Amino acid sequence: MSDTAKSTKRQFKADIVKLLDIITHSVYTNREIFLRELISNASDALEKLRFEQSRGTSVAGADLPLEISITTDKENNTLTITDTGIGMSELELVENIGSIAHSGSENFIKALGEDSSKASSIIGRFGVGFYSVFMAARQVVLTTRSATPDEPAWVWISDGLGGYELIAAEGEVPRGTSIEIHLKDDATEFADPDQIKDIINRHSHFISFPILVDGGRVNTVPAVWREPKSQVTAEQYKEFYSFLTHDTEAPIETVHMNVDAPVQFSALVFVPAKSEEFLGMSKLERGLDLYVRRVLIAKDATELLPEYLRFCRGVVDTEDLPLNLSRETLQENMVLRRIAQAVTKEILSRLRKKAASDPDGYAALWKEHAKIFKLGYSDFLNREAYAELLRFDSSAVEEGKLASLTDYVSRAREGQKTVYYISGPSREAVELSPHLEMLRRKGLEVLYLYEPIDEFMLESMGSFKEFGFKSAEQAQAKDLASFDDAAPSGPEAAPLSEGESKLLEGLLARMKEVLGDRIKDVRASERLKSSPSCLVSADGQMSSQMQRIMRMMSKDETIPDKIMEVNPDHPLTRNLLAIYGADHADAFIAQATEQLYESALLLEGYLSDPHKMVGRINAILEKASGWYAGLKAGGDSGTTH
Ligand code: ADP
Repeated sequence: MSDTAKSTKRQFKADIVKLLDIITHSVYTNREIFLRELISNASDALEKLRFEQSRGTSVAGADLPLEISITTDKENNTLTITDTGIGMSELELVENIGSIAHSGSENFIKALGEDSSKASSIIGRFGVGFYSVFMAARQVVLTTRSATPDEPAWVWISDGLGGYELIAAEGEVPRGTSIEIHLKDDATEFADPDQIKDIINRHSHFISFPILVDGGRVNTVPAVWREPKSQVTAEQYKEFYSFLTHDTEAPIETVHMNVDAPVQFSALVFVPAKSEEFLGMSKLERGLDLYVRRVLIAKDATELLPEYLRFCRGVVDTEDLPLNLSRETLQENMVLRRIAQAVTKEILSRLRKKAASDPDGYAALWKEHAKIFKLGYSDFLNREAYAELLRFDSSAVEEGKLASLTDYVSRAREGQKTVYYISGPSREAVELSPHLEMLRRKGLEVLYLYEPIDEFMLESMGSFKEFGFKSAEQAQAKDLASFDDAAPSGPEAAPLSEGESKLLEGLLARMKEVLGDRIKDVRASERLKSSPSCLVSADGQMSSQMQRIMRMMSKDETIPDKIMEVNPDHPLTRNLLAIYGADHADAFIAQATEQLYESALLLEGYLSDPHKMVGRINAILEKASGWYAGLKAGGDSGTTH
């Protein structure tokens, strides 16, 4: 190298070093995938170049053919992959494959966990695929020249350990990137052209640029989405999916559309079997890849799918848009909007068919993608189809099974016009809720909601068929009077005499006095059967869950105004009534009232400091055990110690 050559040594960022350490030391289950990653990068670089050319940008080496050429050298144990794509400037080299910390590497390491043997099967999904080259490489010499005219060419050299060297390239370097791989001693198979051809046929089938191996062309497969549906086999769909997503599992659903009017487009969309959440992907990042006449215009164009379907992956290709479309104007584009609407409709209709023909398969899909799908409550255009695709846990299904709104309506009691729901952290927790007692007694199904968004979703949809939505807590006894009890309600308590009714009024007033302004009112309950008390929102207020969400958002930790309802038929209330009758000011009434109130707070999820409650329970237990011991001593004389 001449003295004038610029050379710098740099360290990889810590997360990349860690990732490289895992890659170089992992058990190689499938290390040939590094070739797929490099070819896929080369193809991306060519797509970017083609895109720039199609919009008239002037590029270096404008006459070069767009292709990927691979050469092998058994003697020197090397493999070289060269593309005539967009290339990289010095800054891009540093940013893209060097010193910039990369969230992908962190997520990759997290997803890998203890099992480094799956490194090769998942690395391509985290945007750090380039580094997989170090599974096979002892050293990599990458030479690149940006398509921007007059940018100098650079050489990047690394052994994949701690850092890399950057050197200004000498002599004529054509546009694009060439990666010379010095293979490890145990990786000689990658210097064998037959092996390379075989790997390309298996993994890089769908690359739309010519791939040459030692001068001979390998891939010949056309853009599969443009083929008529009848001519694409299930195997080809699956291959294309794994090519597109680097996901090794087959998709659950494949939607292929070839539409001519009113807008011409082809779409090939897949529903992945597994959510990408483990990749650290946020729902906003995904979309469909947009091609115009086979030129990739935008990867993951979010304009092509509504937010709630962004778990889908795929491509759209249309003749009806100009090639020089800018990414910024995609959102206002009418043609794209029409395509997005048609694709959305088709996906929803396919999901409905799946739900009908394969309910278990659909339930599995729901489990993976529901979180994102639930964001669709504001799609008014497709509301009916959307609502029918929702699934819930419910009082009418066994644990682990799901109910749809259609199921709910079909099971509704005669005259029922409301879908009841209750929110809570788990099935176990909501089934303990006193608010369910009345609905259970009336044989009315209740949907169990576990996530904050669920209630928002139902409230925003407002209705399903002629059914409104209502929280169990807001169900009023008078509204349910027309339904006879469906479940046997157990032995009835003796009705209160007139005198006792008067006493009850006094007791409730005394309780209100004890609780002071912590409570809006204390009243006799018509809804409770087996619980002694519960908290309800004042009429017309939002449900507790909704209040909790609002308060969480505004960081409000106070307890909202509530009404405490007391079950007049509960034995505890009857006992309190007797105590109150004997002594209006008895201290036990205050103690019991506090306890009833805090138990209700606990069930509603509002009790922030349980310590006082423990002390009180102990005091009450002490009393109860004292009486019980006295009783025992009186009854079983002679057996006490
Ligand atoms: P990903 O391709 O998923 O972004 P990689 O680690 O494979 O992740 O590559 C990182 C980046 O390096 C690419 O996004 C691209 O900007 C750049 N790059 C890699 N290979 C090439 C290439 N052959 N030509 C141009 N740029 C490339």
